[in-house]
Amino acid sequence: MEMTDMPPTNGGLRDSILDTIGDTPIVRVNRMGPKNVELYVKLEAFNPAGSVKDRFAKEAIETAETSGALSPGQTVIEATSGNTGIGLALVCAAKGYPLVVTMAENFSVERRKLMRFLGAKVVLTPASEKGSGMVAKAEELAAKHGWFLARQFENEANANVHSKTTALEIIRDFDGKGPDYWVSGFGTGGTLKGVSRIFRKACPSTKIIVTEPDNVPLLGSGIEQARDADGRPSSSHPMFRPHLMQGWSPDFVPKLAEDAQKAGVIDAFQPVSGDDALRVARDLAMKEGIFCGISGGATFAAALHVAENAPDGSRILAMLPDTGERYMSTVLFDDVSEVMTDEEMEISASTSGYRFGGSGAVAPVSTDVAKPEITRMVDKIIADEPVVLFALEWCEFCWSVRKMFAAAGISYRSVDLDSVALQTDNLGGEMRPVLREKTGAPTIPQIFVGGVHVGGATETFDAFNDGSLKTMLSEADVAFDPSMNKDAYSFLPTWLHPR
Ligand code: PMP
Repeated sequence: MEMTDMPPTNGGLRDSILDTIGDTPIVRVNRMGPKNVELYVKLEAFNPAGSVKDRFAKEAIETAETSGALSPGQTVIEATSGNTGIGLALVCAAKGYPLVVTMAENFSVERRKLMRFLGAKVVLTPASEKGSGMVAKAEELAAKHGWFLARQFENEANANVHSKTTALEIIRDFDGKGPDYWVSGFGTGGTLKGVSRIFRKACPSTKIIVTEPDNVPLLGSGIEQARDADGRPSSSHPMFRPHLMQGWSPDFVPKLAEDAQKAGVIDAFQPVSGDDALRVARDLAMKEGIFCGISGGATFAAALHVAENAPDGSRILAMLPDTGERYMSTVLFDDVSEVMTDEEMEISASTSGYRFGGSGAVAPVSTDVAKPEITRMVDKIIADEPVVLFALEWCEFCWSVRKMFAAAGISYRSVDLDSVALQTDNLGGEMRPVLREKTGAPTIPQIFVGGVHVGGATETFDAFNDGSLKTMLSEADVAFDPSMNKDAYSFLPTWLHPR
């Protein structure tokens, strides 16, 4: 094929995941806001770990590698509201550094899981100790263990990366001139300081609008942050209150945010309420197909306020720092149903098949008969193994029984009828009619203890809960943890929970 026939690309071959950080798209918002202005959003969710903080994570590590502050294999540690930790987890995974993160417990659980999934250790700090608590804990751990502390709240790499990348990307995408208004909140102030100082030089007419939670005007109040002799915040800022925008406005004014304010680059403050942040994040999703987190909703809500008084034709750009997927457990998704809504039930009921309580598809009944040689094989397994689970590899009921056995410290053999190993000569398939004949039940799993049939998952859970399974285990000399007294049904996924 001629290379001229190829589609334009934002993709391309990259040497490393780290080469996909930055150069995020700026997208026009078409259906929200007044028509006399142009509204745009910069989608930091396009970074590989889903937030603006990927930029700092890479810069912090590479700057420290170059300066020698970080040595090969040294543990990295950082205090974070989550996104920096997720970004660092990705960068540390790609470069082979162990990572420990401290995070206040009030940030979303998705953040903890994402960091752990990427291989990081997450040390939670009490919500009552606020952002300062997680920072102090990171400092303590770094000092004690000789770990490299990334110090996002004052590390110049945090501002530098935005000067080198974010600011220039924006100026480039707005024809070398920049937008008329640039709207951003701040967490560390890295984005704010790094972008604003370039704008002041390269596009001085761009108005820099800083947004804060309406109940937490840290910068807007003009009240200075108290600091100790080393420049560290010595107490919580008097205007701090708990607020909704995870990742914004910690309980102190970070040095980088203070630098931007002292440089006189901020043209105006635009406070935003928590309700507006949520409403606008939902509107962006439903009216524009633009999916962002709470701080993104808040920043765009601020941009909509700016739009009300902006001259005709103004181009207004809001930063959307992260993806909405890390807020599913939060108030952002409170109104999003897990079960079918009345409207969805009505849609389901509008045809007769494949619905709950309807005359849907009927499972085909197997007419296979048990073969004597397979019966002997199954008998031998049941006789030889103290605890045996005839199972399907990934079926939820089987999985739940396995989880319960693991929690109770019960060793067992799982004979997975659909596993690759039992596909030879359809051995697993041939065992099904044998089991049906033996147990009188067509379902899988089927559980045997000491050669005696216990039942399927439900009967096994009942036997565990009423103590009879423990008696059977003792009689078969099978060890178990007698202190495991959880309701066996709690091991089922909630959608399978029969109670
Ligand atoms: N929004 C979210 C969700 C964040 O996690 C952060 C970073 N903590 C920000 C906004 C602010 O970015 P910055 O640290 O550059 O001020």
